[in-house]
Amino acid sequence: MILSLSLSLLAGVISWSFAEYALHNWVGHVAKGKNEFSREHLRHHAQKDYFAPTLKKWLLALPVLLATGFFAQFFAGPVWGGVYALGFGLTWLWYEQLHYRLHTIPPRGPLSRFLRHHHFAHHFQNPHKNHGVTSPLWDWVFGSFIAVKGPLIVPRSHAMDWLFDAEGQMKVEYTSDYQLKTYRSQLTIQEQAIL
Ligand SMILES: [Zn+2]
Ligand SMILES: [Zn+2]
Repeated sequence: MILSLSLSLLAGVISWSFAEYALHNWVGHVAKGKNEFSREHLRHHAQKDYFAPTLKKWLLALPVLLATGFFAQFFAGPVWGGVYALGFGLTWLWYEQLHYRLHTIPPRGPLSRFLRHHHFAHHFQNPHKNHGVTSPLWDWVFGSFIAVKGPLIVPRSHAMDWLFDAEGQMKVEYTSDYQLKTYRSQLTIQEQAIL
């Protein structure tokens, strides 16, 4: 009983992980702004620290969660289906938290450092790669995984606030993972004249 419930929960977790990849890659990027999710996601890329409003997230999540719960209970019964849907929904919630934290809070250990590097390679190196946020599992499966060798080049205008100290200098501990780049178009006339 415990084992089969754990397997149902794990199936829910893995199903969300696939949904996360599918939403991000196919619904978000491949659709190129042809649906609301895609437009919001492209804005997340274009605008520093922009996240879709919570209401819009719930408008997507509620019907998906209700449908997942309904079909899971239909095929697996109320207990196993319910646990499956719980695994799916909780991992979705965890993903939302984690994605926000990657952008706004500094890494605290090797795993959180890896997840940030993985996600920011998607933002700043190649938006067609590294679609997984909670893990690189489906990037490995679909061949879209890239491992960043050396520091990742981050545009100054989009750089995460946690990279900097109070004086606005990049903290030394992050220089092996990130390097700032200022594009000429973002410089003032005076700065362009100096360079
Ligand atoms: Zn992001
Ligand atoms: Zn993206």
